[in-house]
Amino acid sequence: MTEVGDPLRRLTTLLARLPGIGEKSALRLALAIVRSDAAYGQALSTAIAEVHAQMRLCSICCDLAAAEVCSICSDPRRDPTIVCVVAQPQDRMALERAGVFRGRYHVLHGVLDPLAGVGPAELKISELLARVRRKPDEPELAEVIVATSPNVEGDATALYLAKLLDPLGLTVTRIASGVAVGGELEYADMTTLHRALEDRRRLA
Ligand SMILES: [Zn+2]
Repeated sequence: MTEVGDPLRRLTTLLARLPGIGEKSALRLALAIVRSDAAYGQALSTAIAEVHAQMRLCSICCDLAAAEVCSICSDPRRDPTIVCVVAQPQDRMALERAGVFRGRYHVLHGVLDPLAGVGPAELKISELLARVRRKPDEPELAEVIVATSPNVEGDATALYLAKLLDPLGLTVTRIASGVAVGGELEYADMTTLHRALEDRRRLA
């Protein structure tokens, strides 16, 4: 029997708190770490500490970044007049991997979900509005593509943003539901993401 204070037990309990990791998987991972050489264990713990110490939200798009401004927001080759709004950093990563979008992004860190207590204040919506407000020395933002997943919460979020942004003179579009209904953007392949962007339709 392992004791509560047992380091293996402690590691297993911590790993089991990660999404998609059950007790059995957590134990398997913990045992693999125990059996690995000391250098791997040290590198793993350093990587975890560094992620916490260095990763923050980009001051413009709210994506995870290792600097004040992320590499996409600071890239002059990216079109500043078009912004693609996604729910999570992994959605932005999926679109970048597919190489289908050359504008900028905005990460909401969730979607509207009243039953789960997620309202507009819990998302990075005021930060998006701050970007929309014209600054004389910056190119004008013309279009916002809402690329939340095509499910109930994703659709509700898109409509909310359209109502908010349309009166400000922006074209608000929604990606086509080429991504299977209820499907997750992060698992869509390149062709599907390309079509979803190409066939986007205007909201509001
Ligand atoms: Zn950014």
